[in-house]
Amino acid sequence: MSRLISCLIALIAVVSPGPATAADAVTEFKVLASIQPLAVLARDLLGDSGRVETLLPPGASPHHFALRVSDMRRLRGAHLVVWVGPELERFLSKPMADIAPGKSLSLADLDALQWPVAGMGSHYGSGRDPHIWLNPRNGMVMVKAMAAQFTRLRPAAAADIAQRAERLLRQLSQLHSDVGRRLMALEDKRFLVYHDGYGHFVQAYGLQQAGFVTDLVDRRPGAGHLHQLQQSVAGAGCLLVDSAHLGTQARRLSARLQLPLIELEPYGRDSDTYVQLIGRLVDAFHTCLNVVDTADQT
Ligand SMILES: [Zn+2]
Repeated sequence: MSRLISCLIALIAVVSPGPATAADAVTEFKVLASIQPLAVLARDLLGDSGRVETLLPPGASPHHFALRVSDMRRLRGAHLVVWVGPELERFLSKPMADIAPGKSLSLADLDALQWPVAGMGSHYGSGRDPHIWLNPRNGMVMVKAMAAQFTRLRPAAAADIAQRAERLLRQLSQLHSDVGRRLMALEDKRFLVYHDGYGHFVQAYGLQQAGFVTDLVDRRPGAGHLHQLQQSVAGAGCLLVDSAHLGTQARRLSARLQLPLIELEPYGRDSDTYVQLIGRLVDAFHTCLNVVDTADQT
């Protein structure tokens, strides 16, 4: 008898909705952002009106990622999937084809985005530099597009989203002027990047990139390319390496080129906001170019 009662109790526990009802869970607006820079913007926009998750775990590179079964479930369970596009998250190309058009937002498709041109130490092969979020003006374009999609899918929260969007756009506009001011003194200084993924930032602020070590698809540099790098680094401040590429090869190269190695994090691994992400990038460039930052002294 007691066994029957405990079985019944267990059964009730499984089927009863509990304090947070099943209906709440179903109606909760779920946004899945491929990478952290998109997630922090989406989170700031949505506030309590929904839940934003990041697909890639911290520190993972979107250039080399393989989806797990659990990731596929997260993709299918989201009301909206926000990603850059196949140029960055190649691993998502196939699964995204199965997601209904109204449930995904590919930011690289936005007409108002600004794109850097190849040259000036950058080379994108036949493609474009997909690290679009590294230009705060593109950040603003992305915020507007996300706000429109969130409002379409969550009309009840329209007023809240509009208010948050306005605040965020003001922040980003201020950020863009602050960054411009902080980097003005560095315009003539040269530097080398390990991963050729900073074109949006470099060209938005008129910086002088002397060259790159690996291209967008991370092809290892050949002997000819290394020789060319050695010729072009004269007077460069440092070698900027993103955390995903910080390893023996980068350290060896920094020694060989006699350039100090400075780490930076374009994917915002430890940043909770977009302003923080860009701010840290600016700090890394400052350290690299060894300029006293007047903004830090005030
Ligand atoms: Zn990259």
